[in-house]
Amino acid sequence: MSRVALITGINGQDGYYLSRFLESKDYEVHGITSCSKPGIGEPPKNCYYCDFAEGSNLNEILDRVKPDEVYHLAAQSHVRLSFDIPVYTAEVTGVGTLRLLDAIRYYEQQSGKKVRFYQASSSEMFGKVVETPQSETTPFHPRSPYACAKVFSYWLTINYRESYGMFACNGILFNHESPRRGEAFVTRKITKAVARIKLGMQDKLFLGNIDAKRDWGFAGDYVEAMWLILQQENPDDFVIGTGETHSVREFLEAAFGAVDLDWRKYVEIDPQFYRPAEVELLCADPSKAREKLKWEPKVTFEELARLMVEADLKRAEQEKLL
Ligand code: GDP
Repeated sequence: MSRVALITGINGQDGYYLSRFLESKDYEVHGITSCSKPGIGEPPKNCYYCDFAEGSNLNEILDRVKPDEVYHLAAQSHVRLSFDIPVYTAEVTGVGTLRLLDAIRYYEQQSGKKVRFYQASSSEMFGKVVETPQSETTPFHPRSPYACAKVFSYWLTINYRESYGMFACNGILFNHESPRRGEAFVTRKITKAVARIKLGMQDKLFLGNIDAKRDWGFAGDYVEAMWLILQQENPDDFVIGTGETHSVREFLEAAFGAVDLDWRKYVEIDPQFYRPAEVELLCADPSKAREKLKWEPKVTFEELARLMVEADLKRAEQEKLL
C-alpha cells in the first residue's frame, strides 16, 4: 500500500516540485489549493479547495484523505505584500497553521492514526540577524508581518509536538527559487526581465534594495529535505540552505551575464520596491541537515540563475509568437 501525502499550497512552486518528488517515491499525493482564484470550478482529482483564512472544511478533508504525512506549504508568502495586507497575512500564514494543526490533533484523536506534519518555516524569521550564519539555535527577530506570522506557526508546531506528542517538524528553509517562482520575487522578476530585454520586448527593470543578500538555492533540491525531515526517527527542526550568501547585485550579474548583457544598462532603482523594514542579510548554517539528514543542495548559484533565465527565454519566445 502506498503512503498518502497531503500537500497544502499544492499549486505553488514548492507544491509542484514536492508532489512530483513524492510521486517518484510511490506516494498517493493529494493537495489543498486556495479557492480565491477567478473562474473557479470543480477541483481536479485528489485536490480540495480550502482557504486558510477560514479553514472550516479541514476536518472533512483529513477524514477523506487519511494522510500519513501533511506538508503545510500554503501561505501568503510575499514579504512586501504582507506590509499592505498584514491582517490577512496573519490569518493565512499564522492562524491558518493553527487551524491545520488543531484539525490534525482532532483527526489523530478520532481515528487513532498518527500523522507526520511538516511546517514550512522560513529564514525570514531570523530577520534582523543576531549572528551569521544562522542555525537552529539562532534567535529570531522577524522584520515583517509575514515573518511574524511564520514565527507564530513555528512555535505552534513545537507546542503541538510538546503538548500532544505529535510528529510535527519545522523546516527552516532559506530562499529557494526555480522557473516556477512567483514573478513578484526578486530572482524571477530579474530572470523574466532578462529574457524580455534580450528579445527586445522590454527595456528597463525597476528594483528596490539591490544590496540585500540572500542564501539562494534551487527549490527542486529543497523539497527532498522536506521529505527527509519527516522520515527521521524523532520529530525535529532543521535549517535548510546552501551556506553561501549573494547580493541581489550578484544575481543580476549572473542572470544578465547568462545572455551576455551588462545589467547596469537596464536596471533602475524604484523606492516603491523598498520595504518598511528590510532583511539585509541571510546565510544558512546547514550543518545539522548535512549530518542528520545527509542532505546537500546540488544546483549552484550560477546554475540556478542560468536555468531560470533559460526557462524564461523559452516562455518569452512563445509569448512573442502569439
Ligand atoms: P524574500 O527574501 O522572501 O523577501 O524574497 P524576495 O525575492 O521577495 O526578496 C529578496 C530581496 O530582494 C529582499 O531583500 C528585497 O528587498 C530585495 N529586492 C530588491 N528589489 C526587489 C524587487 O523589485 N522585488 C522584490 N520582491 N524584492 C526586491
